[in-house]
Parts: sequence; structure tokens; C-alpha cells
Amino acid sequence: MKQELTIKHIPYGIASRIGDCIYVHTDLIKYPKLYNAILNHELEHTSGYCLKDLALDFRNKGLSGHKKDYWKFMFTTPSAWLQLSPLLMYDKKTTFDITLFLFYGLAMLSIGLLGLLLW
Ligand SMILES: [Zn+2]
Repeated sequence: MKQELTIKHIPYGIASRIGDCIYVHTDLIKYPKLYNAILNHELEHTSGYCLKDLALDFRNKGLSGHKKDYWKFMFTTPSAWLQLSPLLMYDKKTTFDITLFLFYGLAMLSIGLLGLLLW
């Protein structure tokens, strides 16, 4: 079944898929290869949120050939760092990023365990 997707350019974050809409940072257009890789990644996501999406984000192998462009984009685009916020507004709706939430949870757990080990 073919799905109709909308692509919207926004001035913050990197890229996110919410339902049938993909939000991409406007400045990513300056890096066409990276832009395509990111778009392909977002296209692989389901319109909802399931384990497949989680696995996709944790592996994230589609971007491996574009690390140089990625970091160049990140370091020249301060507004892209907003992607690291687990809560972001898209079309005036607050969206909760489960992957990031899990990631921060795991990071804090690791720091906690490390703290216990070094006690
Ligand atoms: Zn993703």
C-alpha cells in the first residue's frame, strides 16, 4: 500500500517523522547527500511507534557514510541541537521522543551503576 507523506521544512531539530509527516531542518538542504540519507531513514519509520522504529534509531546505519556532513551540519547549525530534546513542538503540538527518553534513562542508569561500582 502506498502511503502519502508530507515533507515540511522547519528551522530546528534534524528530522522527525510524526504520523504521515516528515519534518526536516531547512539547512539540511545544503547537504543533499545527508538530506537524502536522513529522509530515507525517516521513510523507514512507521507512522506510529513500535519496536521496529526503536531498532532503526539504535542501529542508524544509514548515516554511517555521511558522518562528516552530519557533524559539519551539527556544528554550523545550533538550532539542530534541539533534536536532543525529548520534547519538541511540531505544528504547535508537543511531541515526546521515546527513543531519546529511553536513551537518557539508560545513560542515567549507567552513570548510577558506575557510581555504585566506584563507591
Ligand atoms: Zn529515526
